[in-house]
Amino acid sequence: MAQNSFNQYCRQEADTTALAQKLANSLSHLFQADPRAHLNISLEGDLGAGKTTFARHLIQALGYEGRVKSPTYTLCEPYPIQINHSNPSAATSITVHHFDLYRMRDPLEWQEAGFAEHFDEPGFCLVEWPEKAEGTLPAFDIAIHLIAGDDENARDIGFKANSKQGVVVIEKMQTQER
Ligand code: ADP
Ligand code: MG
Repeated sequence: MAQNSFNQYCRQEADTTALAQKLANSLSHLFQADPRAHLNISLEGDLGAGKTTFARHLIQALGYEGRVKSPTYTLCEPYPIQINHSNPSAATSITVHHFDLYRMRDPLEWQEAGFAEHFDEPGFCLVEWPEKAEGTLPAFDIAIHLIAGDDENARDIGFKANSKQGVVVIEKMQTQER
């Protein structure tokens, strides 16, 4: 039975890549069914846990071919993506906004920077260090938690869905073949 939350132990970075690919497949499905959908996804965990690495693999698995750099200094990096680009007549355009709020000096700096409008555009927001906004961000559909494992390259990655849309995505991840 698919659950609203699950954890996966990733022994090496390739396992994290495979997990990000599963989330990408699941999200692609959602956007093909509903091209106007928007989701908020948090990426939580200590410095070096692998939040940016997971975001990079996810964005690239969705078909983005350029570089995905950490938004540490810019706070936000946008990535325009065509879902289902192999079939142009059915292609859907979304934008992924990747945030890293670690360097915010004020919890509302994200609003002052004009980022609020990104929280309902077709696509999704992926937010590292959401706790820096002290509860001022819109609710998260999915929370992803990364924890260091017992080996340098091992991570325990947990997914928790907090909305109907989030549940659909998380359930679809669990029913995919590896
Ligand atoms: P954060 O954004 O959480 O501060 P980064 O993604 O910038 O962390 O850094 C994580 C580092 O850990 C990267 O250098 C990455 O290559 C490395 N790493 C090693 N194993 C893994 C793994 N299983 N999953 C994710 N990252 C890993
Ligand atoms: Mg980071």
